[in-house]
Amino acid sequence: MEDCRIYLDNAATTPLSKTVLDAMMPYLTTHFGNPSAIYSYGREAKLAVENARKAVAKILNTQPSEIFFTVGGTESANTAITGAVRDLGCKRIITSAIEHHATLRTVQRLQQTGEAVVNYVQLLPDGHIDLNDLEKLLAESEAKTLIALMHANNEIGNLLDIRTVGELCKKYHAIFYCDTVQTIGRFPLDLKEIFVHFISASAHKFHGPKGAGMLYINENIGIKPFINGGAQERNMRAGTENVAGIVGFAKALQITADNCEQNSRSIQELKMYLYHRLKNEIPNIGFNGDVEGQSLYALLNVSFPKTDKTEMLLYNLDIHHICASSGSACSSGVNQASHVLEAVYPNHNRVAIRFSFSEENTKEEIDIVVEKIKELI
Ligand code: PLP
Repeated sequence: MEDCRIYLDNAATTPLSKTVLDAMMPYLTTHFGNPSAIYSYGREAKLAVENARKAVAKILNTQPSEIFFTVGGTESANTAITGAVRDLGCKRIITSAIEHHATLRTVQRLQQTGEAVVNYVQLLPDGHIDLNDLEKLLAESEAKTLIALMHANNEIGNLLDIRTVGELCKKYHAIFYCDTVQTIGRFPLDLKEIFVHFISASAHKFHGPKGAGMLYINENIGIKPFINGGAQERNMRAGTENVAGIVGFAKALQITADNCEQNSRSIQELKMYLYHRLKNEIPNIGFNGDVEGQSLYALLNVSFPKTDKTEMLLYNLDIHHICASSGSACSSGVNQASHVLEAVYPNHNRVAIRFSFSEENTKEEIDIVVEKIKELI
């Protein structure tokens, strides 16, 4: 039976690509060996993992020895932040109130245990990080500092000027962790050009499998493993490798990066088409984040005045087979206030719906969504 649903929650997760599944299949079936085994089954699995590592390193213009496979963005964030504090001597963390919970909860935990002091950088009215405040914070203390700021915000789509933040980190000798979960493959990232110590990724955000992620660790720093056990991932990440997942990660990233230019254009067009239609056709509508400026081209966060109808809109869209979200994946479907919107627009008292796109969406789908929203509210 044909699936008639319209899927506009690609920032939460994306469907697995058929090509990616095909690349993974041998490692779920015939090539099932444990990469640590010395016989041929093991060697072919090991080769697949190392080839995946090389492919990922090439895309990011870095060394394979700097790429570590994890289960996803959350584990990568935990590893980077905890490692920076415990192994690199960062006694202070500068982050923002609008980071993903993978960062915020890790930072809060290190604050609770007394291992680090946490400073939150100020936000500008449109939700961008105030880079002047960031520099002021960096300048006011001699303490070794970790900057933990995300490249694109997964709720409102604002993009960080990663190069400028990297330069500030260089100037003040700070360690920089950038959560690139929403941007990797979707924007060219040349790690030889950007001053950054850690970046993170999750394959399911770009048509790869769930449970496959990556942490880049710059070769000039060394941290201890976050997960202890065997010697996998060159002693950095214990546990038998998710070989099929790792192969899928690399394949999905390759496809995304290869098609980045073309897809970014067509997805941006869809986003702006939805933006202009909603803006012109629905009174009192608003948009969260810097939609027309430095913004992720795959995401539009729409703000409606609070009414009985708009409060039910997400549920009613679902009844009409339209999948969108109220914000981050962990809060979608649950009427929970978004920590991002609360931080950027205190007392906003509006209803937010996040639409996030992929290359599989069409203009016809956007038309159906706009008409349905008009009808429902
Ligand atoms: N960081 C960002 C910006 C995200 O959007 C997500 C997923 O929603 C994560 C981290 C966590 O990734 P995962 O749930 O795959 O561990």
